[in-house]
Amino acid sequence: MKAMVLHKPAPAETDPLRYEDYPTPTPRRGEVLIRVISCGVCHSNLHMIEGDWVKYGVPAKLPIIPGHEIIGKVVELGEGVENFRKGDIVGAQPLYSACGRCEYCLTGNEHLCNSVQITGETVDGGYAEYFVGKADYMYKVPDNIDPETSSPLFCPGVTAYRASKLANLGPGKKAYVLGIGGVGHVAIQTSKLFGSEVIAVSTSESHAKLAEEMGADKVVVTNRDYSNLEDHYEKADSVIVFSPSQRAIDAAVKLAKKQATVVVGVFGNINDFRFPKELVIRGSVVGSRKDMQEVLNLASKGLIKLKVTKFKLQEANEVLKKLKRGEIVGRAVLLP
Ligand SMILES: [Zn+2]
Ligand SMILES: [Zn+2]
Repeated sequence: MKAMVLHKPAPAETDPLRYEDYPTPTPRRGEVLIRVISCGVCHSNLHMIEGDWVKYGVPAKLPIIPGHEIIGKVVELGEGVENFRKGDIVGAQPLYSACGRCEYCLTGNEHLCNSVQITGETVDGGYAEYFVGKADYMYKVPDNIDPETSSPLFCPGVTAYRASKLANLGPGKKAYVLGIGGVGHVAIQTSKLFGSEVIAVSTSESHAKLAEEMGADKVVVTNRDYSNLEDHYEKADSVIVFSPSQRAIDAAVKLAKKQATVVVGVFGNINDFRFPKELVIRGSVVGSRKDMQEVLNLASKGLIKLKVTKFKLQEANEVLKKLKRGEIVGRAVLLP
């Protein structure tokens, strides 16, 4: 098969992915081989490809095929797979597999399992013509969902939804969403589903426009250091951060009211933490299988919309450069 393969992490400007022949995987027991229809390009793919996450042990192997938000058609089933048939349209998310036995797995938090495998980071992902996944960690895509443009449900969708679930949202409350990229544009919608008034904050005019389209009650365009947000300080019941920026995290803590919940979905530090505010600060990472299924149900009812631009698989290096420059509005997907 053809795939976009990473042999060595390097800056996006140097075209680190190579379009080349790669062995087509064979499904083993409990596995499913799909012909990839689309795969989203996540900001975390960019981090891995450029080597930012070598310190966290990612990628766990080289060469590796990146990509962890995947929709495809089942072409072959490994032994013992009973939940899918050939021809089914299915999806895979970053949670590739988990041990099934630890305290996290047994309490519905399998995405936190210590033995978790991550699609496109510890095992090959979806920047390819074929992908093999674990049947127990794949999902049937509802018929009324377009397979070419809906693969981002499998990372931004579930990531935004879980963050909203954890943000203590509700009617009569005010929530800020910081960063209106692939995940943020979904987080506006999922946060509104829980009843909060949603104020979107972005450093980019084009992303701010997208926030309006996605139903934000108010949109604030801020500067790179978030210094023009003073009027908003101590106003939010919830703040959700998806902008991969330390300044955004710093701003989030200031926007939060006393006893507010700040949900952080990016790496960074909590500075200037004032305990008398009784803030709750918590992380959120992708989501469990239950979260993922709920996202598919909501999308099937038309309650989650994605802004997607299609590219060819071979264009992955170009897409990564655009993403790095902030030129992707919503999400880019690769079609083999
Ligand atoms: Zn992702
Ligand atoms: Zn486990």
